[in-house]
Amino acid sequence: MVKKWVYLFEEVEQVEKYAGSWEGVRGLLGGKGSGLADMTRAGVPVPPGFTVTTEACNEFRKTGNFPAGQWDQELAALKVVEKKTGKKFGDPTKPLLVSCRSGAKFSMPGMMNTILNIGLNDQVVDGLAKLTGNPRFAWDSYRRLVEMFGTTVFNLEDEVFEQPLAEYKASKGYKLDTEMTAEDWKALVGTFKKVYKMHVGSDFPQDVTKQLELATKAVFESWMGKKAIDYRKATNISDDLGTAVNIVTMVFGNMGDDSGTGVAFTRNPSTGDRKMMGEYLLNAQGEDVVAGIRNADPIEHLVIHMPEVYKQFMDITAKLEKHYKDVQDVEFTIERGKLWMLQTRNAKRTAKSAIKIAVDMVNEGLISKEDAVQRVSTENVDTLLHPQFDDKALKDAEKNGTYLAKGVNASPGAAVGQIYFDADKAEKMSKQEKQDTIMVRPFTKPDDVHGMIASKGVVTSEGGATSHAAVVARQFGIPCVVGATAVQIDLEKRVMVIGDRTIKEGEWISVDGTTGKVYAGKIPTSAASIEEQTELLTLLNWADEIAARPDIRIMPTGEKNRGLMVWANADYPKDARRARSYGAVGIGLCRTEHMFFETERLPIVQRMILAETPEIRKTALDELLPSQRKDFDGLFDAMNGYPVIIRLIDPPLHEFMPDEEKLFEEVVTMRALKQTEGLKEKEHLLAAIKGMHESNPMMGLRGVRLSIYMPQIVEMQVRAIFEAAADCTLRGIVVKPEIMIPLTGTVNELEWIQPRLERIGKTVMGEKKVNFHYKFGTMIEIPRAAVTASELAARAEFFSFGTNDLTQMTFGYSRDDAERNFLITYVAEGILPKNPFQTLDRGGVGKLMQMAINDGRKTRPELEVGICGEHGGDPESIEWCHMIGNNYVSCSPFRVPIARLAAAHSALKYSGQKIVEDK
Ligand code: ADP
Ligand code: MG
Ligand code: MG
Repeated sequence: MVKKWVYLFEEVEQVEKYAGSWEGVRGLLGGKGSGLADMTRAGVPVPPGFTVTTEACNEFRKTGNFPAGQWDQELAALKVVEKKTGKKFGDPTKPLLVSCRSGAKFSMPGMMNTILNIGLNDQVVDGLAKLTGNPRFAWDSYRRLVEMFGTTVFNLEDEVFEQPLAEYKASKGYKLDTEMTAEDWKALVGTFKKVYKMHVGSDFPQDVTKQLELATKAVFESWMGKKAIDYRKATNISDDLGTAVNIVTMVFGNMGDDSGTGVAFTRNPSTGDRKMMGEYLLNAQGEDVVAGIRNADPIEHLVIHMPEVYKQFMDITAKLEKHYKDVQDVEFTIERGKLWMLQTRNAKRTAKSAIKIAVDMVNEGLISKEDAVQRVSTENVDTLLHPQFDDKALKDAEKNGTYLAKGVNASPGAAVGQIYFDADKAEKMSKQEKQDTIMVRPFTKPDDVHGMIASKGVVTSEGGATSHAAVVARQFGIPCVVGATAVQIDLEKRVMVIGDRTIKEGEWISVDGTTGKVYAGKIPTSAASIEEQTELLTLLNWADEIAARPDIRIMPTGEKNRGLMVWANADYPKDARRARSYGAVGIGLCRTEHMFFETERLPIVQRMILAETPEIRKTALDELLPSQRKDFDGLFDAMNGYPVIIRLIDPPLHEFMPDEEKLFEEVVTMRALKQTEGLKEKEHLLAAIKGMHESNPMMGLRGVRLSIYMPQIVEMQVRAIFEAAADCTLRGIVVKPEIMIPLTGTVNELEWIQPRLERIGKTVMGEKKVNFHYKFGTMIEIPRAAVTASELAARAEFFSFGTNDLTQMTFGYSRDDAERNFLITYVAEGILPKNPFQTLDRGGVGKLMQMAINDGRKTRPELEVGICGEHGGDPESIEWCHMIGNNYVSCSPFRVPIARLAAAHSALKYSGQKIVEDK
């Protein structure tokens, strides 16, 4: 038996049986096809039609031919449609026209081909004119077919048709298409057919089945078109999926003022408000609204034009939203007062609305908390916490005349950049010149997407909230203003003109996608405040609940355990407070050396380093002690009740000294000018710095090595930590200090230093007569530490992976240099899948971590394990930390919300699974 490649819309049950699940149906029929079939089953008015499967597309891509049986099945399905509609394909007395529409599993709006009005030829057009009594409509439809056929099947430029149309209108003195009469369109069809023949080399096919065949092939081929490939790359859709082809009976929105076409979202895809948002045009065909070329009417007006249709439409869309449990983006056409639904899909949305809608739908009882958490992406959260324009700066801009224009606030956020008037240039300046670019266009089309993605913001002078630019910008989280009608773009002169102001290509503007306003120049931005984002806070609380479930992970011992906690890297009390407000439940890394760099302290630190006797050093350290104690006090206070990991001094000492080269120049100059005052001291300092010089400081005297070489510094630090902790305890604050020794490579280092430090801790507790819980632990940043973890864990009560250094040392790449040069090539050439400093290399660095956790916990089952490298804020790396049994990840306070969501995503993805052991 030949395989079934073609399914009628009403055969959806059969497809479900074959595909096994709704996911499978979507894979086979594509999003559009499965939606049309599903709506048909639910009794929603859908024009009769059928779908050619993605399997057929994939066969076609392999061989360049339709698979055996496909074409016969298409013709047979067409017969069924003819019976249903009482019309006949190619018959002038009762013509059936169809559209041929692409539709992949994941929607790719406008990226592939759709051809309308298939089935018209020189005879049928006359028949249609007579039958409808509307020759203008018939000839208009025919010219659209010839044009779409030429541009989509044979890839002709739009221009080859648009040009003669513009010339024709000019010769008649027309401004609008609506002024064209039946005779005009008829004349133009003649011209179009000539143009077609000239470019294609053969006549426009009069055989309607040939039209259908070529159109089907063209849709298959459009899957591998450049814009479709680019789009898939940007959205991580696999090239293997293929597209389905939907053949749908044409319904006409261009049959007069009782007809129309439109698109709508069941909730506002920009703000998430629970209110239908849509647009429609009377007497028009679908493309006109979707392309955003003509400004349309808001959907609410339909209640005046056609109250019955409006009510039916609202009922259907409400039902669809309930059925799919998600916001729907629908396309519809009204033909002589009858409503037809042409598409429904889950709407693309902004980050803000994604979160609001997810939370609202939980509150409405439509979806579960887990669904809500899964629906929101870490990118969504990232976008939401991106900078906004400074309020005061905006007010000033309004006053001082930099305000330019207002349009529709299509996609929120603040963007500042240099303007470019086409996608290629915007992409080039952004990628090659590393500029922040803003793409400014009259309107956008699918071939502009690469320029939009490369830009910080987008502005169009035409189109509305459902225009192409708006939809794409929302999907990618790019701030966007559309329909800024005051902006006149002169693509020839490469300028935009607003009133009496002219702004040239390359100049800076600021775009506020939240309000729809555009300003000249650069407006300062400030961080978004999380406290005001109540829906986000709610969602993140749900995320925490999920990650905290006690049976999320099964340890190798069989014990059940919760998912990841999220801690933050914070050096100062103010960072700690921010970390708390962002939801961190611990500090995973406090870098104490930052405290040494403060202007009042640096001279003391330098004096301490240069000290020639232990006594001088001690005096300097005694001077530093109170300020260190104060730092830690503030930190414990801010983190009342939560653990605080404090890392002892880590960098090489020369980092605290003046720059050697600069000092050398000063000395030389002084000598040349014979200035003696202060020269001796400078010479002395220079000699000292020279003496400290190392050719490879990152692998030199730093971390625990420095502590052993010069223990007085860390002894002072530990004293400061314990004194602060004791003072806080006496004030009623619950402290959980954890002292972290960096850069350990052998347990003997810990054996040497740790007992001395522990003794100091005990002494202080004795002096202050208080007791509190504390830990000593180490960072794992040297491969040898990971490999000998079972030994280290005998001393260390906790591990924290310093994955910046661990990655650097495992690969042998110097981070500071590699990221500037060969690493980019490595990623581009696919030698490395990703930059390992951004996303954990699971196979190497990740494996070392896994080994360290396993071996460490064999020695010390309760060993606390975390990560404090930059990877702690990267969702993919967080997932790995979940899988191998980390207790927490620690990242910058700003990334804490992202990490909380990522931790919940991992918890849901691997819920109840055993952590992966290193074998
Ligand atoms: P896309 O995948 O880019 O959204 P579609 O296949 O949905 O492309 O087609 C684009 C537009 O063409 C639709 O919005 C719809 O208005 C119009 N269209 C498609 N098929 C038909 C049809 N059978 N009758 C009337 N209009 C149609
Ligand atoms: Mg569509
Ligand atoms: Mg380090």
